[in-house]
Amino acid sequence: MASSTPEQGAKQQIESAAIVLDCRDHGESDKIVTFFCRDIGRITGIAKGAKRSKKRFVNKLEIFSSLRILHTLPQNGRLAFIAEAELLDGFITLRTDVSRYTIASIIRETVLLATKDLEGDAELYPLLHWVLHTLNTSKNSDPVLIFFFIRFFAIIGYSPNLTNCSDCGCQLVQNEMFSFHLQSGGILCSRCNKDKQSTRIRLSCGTLRSLDMALKQPLDRLQRLQLTEQSRREALSFFHLYARQLFQREIVSWQFLDT
Ligand SMILES: [Zn+2]
Repeated sequence: MASSTPEQGAKQQIESAAIVLDCRDHGESDKIVTFFCRDIGRITGIAKGAKRSKKRFVNKLEIFSSLRILHTLPQNGRLAFIAEAELLDGFITLRTDVSRYTIASIIRETVLLATKDLEGDAELYPLLHWVLHTLNTSKNSDPVLIFFFIRFFAIIGYSPNLTNCSDCGCQLVQNEMFSFHLQSGGILCSRCNKDKQSTRIRLSCGTLRSLDMALKQPLDRLQRLQLTEQSRREALSFFHLYARQLFQREIVSWQFLDT
């Protein structure tokens, strides 16, 4: 945790598009806020007077909100100083619909777990913004979490091998069931999966092909992809276990997901 001394004053202020990942009260009148910014990645800063401010920060520092912020860069483990915030989109449905709130919470928790301060990524901010915007507006929010995870793991460099058997190298065959082995990070075909008792997650060829397509589509076309109920269940079980293995801890919000 950073110290509570803001980099105020001498440091130059910059403007960032940012998503609020976390916000908590600090003292009598301030808030400490963690953002994921478009260019610089995750930062945590102090918004002085935010608990009382009627103009600068009111209703803007809510979790999941999309903002434009004026701030200093945090240095030497200190907090950034958040000077101003402009609300771009409050994604209001995420706060009024329980299932969408749960999905957004899993995503928020995952991003907080998997990112470090000031490690920007050209693809992560657009993915995060897309997923919150789609959850907020789409009639069918179900596949959004699956689309998020397949792309998120690729962005952070932990893309699972879902395109061919890790042992014999065979390609996906229609109607074949594959097993994902957590320990090896890849799938095995039914011939190579000899140890039926080991930790494995069953993934059908249809699910694997859908995930591969979700990885290759441009963001703005992802919503056109259809998932069967079987694929949805298989993929959600897979990502839950894969994330738990990768982060070596449970994603707490997952327990509220209605599967
Ligand atoms: Zn094989």
